[in-house]
Amino acid sequence: MAAAAAVSAPSTKGSLREDLTCAICCDLFREPVMLACMHHFCRPCISRYWRGTQGPVTCPQCRKEFSSKQFQTNYLVAAMVEKVRATTSDTYIKSLEKQLKETLESHLLRKEDFNNSIRRDKEKMNIIKRVGADLQARVKGDFRALHQILHDEETCMLEQLRREQEEELEKVQRHLEAVEVAQRELEDNLKALQQASAATEDIVLTELPQLRPCVQVDIAPEFDINAFSNKYMAPLQYIAWRRMFKSLKPGPSPLTFDVDTAHPSIHVSRDKSLAVECDVMNHHLNHGKRFTQCVNILASQSFQSGRHYWEVDVGYNPKWDLGVASEAVDRHARIKLSPETGYWTLRLRNGNDYSAGTQPWTRLQLGSSPQRIGVFLDCDERKVSFYNADDMSLLYSFASGPRGKAFPFFSPCISDSSHKPQPLKLLHYPPVALSG
Ligand SMILES: [Zn+2]
Ligand SMILES: [Zn+2]
Repeated sequence: MAAAAAVSAPSTKGSLREDLTCAICCDLFREPVMLACMHHFCRPCISRYWRGTQGPVTCPQCRKEFSSKQFQTNYLVAAMVEKVRATTSDTYIKSLEKQLKETLESHLLRKEDFNNSIRRDKEKMNIIKRVGADLQARVKGDFRALHQILHDEETCMLEQLRREQEEELEKVQRHLEAVEVAQRELEDNLKALQQASAATEDIVLTELPQLRPCVQVDIAPEFDINAFSNKYMAPLQYIAWRRMFKSLKPGPSPLTFDVDTAHPSIHVSRDKSLAVECDVMNHHLNHGKRFTQCVNILASQSFQSGRHYWEVDVGYNPKWDLGVASEAVDRHARIKLSPETGYWTLRLRNGNDYSAGTQPWTRLQLGSSPQRIGVFLDCDERKVSFYNADDMSLLYSFASGPRGKAFPFFSPCISDSSHKPQPLKLLHYPPVALSG
């Protein structure tokens, strides 16, 4: 420990190196030895220094005299010297510099990564804020329109009620005024008659006094409280709700099947609201629009702008495809349904195996088996979404929908012999009269 104290606690590498330097050769100690005065020297240096000296020797550093040439090997200092020698060697320094450079580079890279990550996070937050604000505006706009419809309905109904109340009041008012006029005339006549009867005591009555003709008054108008209130003592909320359908944007589109597009195995009902797969091939006119390979059919209506929504009753059919098809789809080829081939569809197989019509299929885990499917087509935003129309939960949404003209698309599929084919039904709210 004394040796370590003599070498002194190194404050920096430079002073440690100085402490471990031999005062004779001015280099790092080689085989360091310690004299009784605690000064250190290389064994060869001190041996050479004392060589030829007889009798007492001195310490080259502090000049202390010793009776004989005595020193001790200091292993601790030797170990420290080895360490300093190793850590100041060229290869060590080079490897240290390399390590330093690499660590610095990796830190710079990480810093760059963090910077990028921060930038991306901030961009993402901005996007979320912007999209959120857009959506808020959209939701507000849609609800404003609904409030407006309800407000207009309310104003209109209150105005009608006010007018009818006014009319009823006016009818009675007119009668009241007529009765009052008749009453005044009658009062005048009464006065004349009373005067005449009072005068008969003095003079002989020769004739009746002049009387005004009696005014005829129409019978009092009836106020039918039932007729008046029936219109307003009604299921007003339901009536308003039914009327709202007409103003909904998009409201449910009243679709019909286009028989000219139907595969020969599809039978379409007279009112064109039902399509069912059948064994007997229909002998339709051969039409360029017709699907000849797949059991498909389109609606007569097409859309290329705005937002549209329709509902299809799929019942308990164990298999079907439905959605949207581009006008340009190849109707004479067997094609896998996907946006790349012009179809944006939802499909059911085996009664509970739902998937979105991507390639490959995107399997969907639905909690229940919806009987009614809602299809939403936003031509401007190029979105096609599917809903469980019973509770309007979103089932799947395609982000890049059709460009240009698109048709509602349906496929009742070929049914297994074990299942009686059931129709796909286009739903109309409120029921609309269909020609056919
Ligand atoms: Zn030396
Ligand atoms: Zn000394």
